[in-house]
Amino acid sequence: MRNKEEYYRYLQQRKALPRRNYYQLSLQEKQQIQQDSRGQKPRLLLHACCAVCMGWPLEFLLDTFAVDIFYYNPNIWPQAEYQRRLEEVRRVLQEEYPGQIQLIAGPYDNAAYTVEQLAPYKDDPEGYRRCFLCYALRLQEAFRYAAEHDYPYLTTTLTVSRQKDSQKINEIAAGLQRQYPQVHYFYSDFKKAGGQQKTDELAARRQLYRQDYCGCVYSWEERFLEK
Ligand code: SF4
Repeated sequence: MRNKEEYYRYLQQRKALPRRNYYQLSLQEKQQIQQDSRGQKPRLLLHACCAVCMGWPLEFLLDTFAVDIFYYNPNIWPQAEYQRRLEEVRRVLQEEYPGQIQLIAGPYDNAAYTVEQLAPYKDDPEGYRRCFLCYALRLQEAFRYAAEHDYPYLTTTLTVSRQKDSQKINEIAAGLQRQYPQVHYFYSDFKKAGGQQKTDELAARRQLYRQDYCGCVYSWEERFLEK
């Protein structure tokens, strides 16, 4: 049984909080970087959860940044699903951006990630504490990699999903940013201004595999066993 009542209370509290317009912020930031960089695009590491969600965010960023993709998603269960999503990311990069964008796949240890990290929140509904931790863990690794490999900018495709709270994702990233001051987190709300629709259109045109659960075994159970 999922902790739904607690989650609904959280959503009510969340609704009462002021919301930042991260989409406007991302436009302003792009404009400023374009002015400052004078045609030299700075490097940005884009954490991507799958080829579908990568679609519009990558297009949105490419006029300003030299982007590389960081596929770090040990949350995805089972391994065949993880591999399938990774191969779709690789295919899009090869077909649409040949030789332009590097793909970096991070380590995959779903058993450890599930048991040691997510399991205490296994009964939470999707969108609550288990997911906050999952965003934080993946972003933490993306920050670590970006810092170690001298990427001045980092962001994630996670804010394009209509199932995910962009406010929360950006807040988590802001907390991690303090640990990695050399990496500038590019705030986003990729789903805004038709971003979700553009992502859907790109996925259809590219004939992408579309998963119907978020990724972890608990989201699979929630989707397929609890209906
Ligand atoms: S539902 Fe998605 S974001 Fe939430 S814990 Fe599972 S894989 Fe991570």
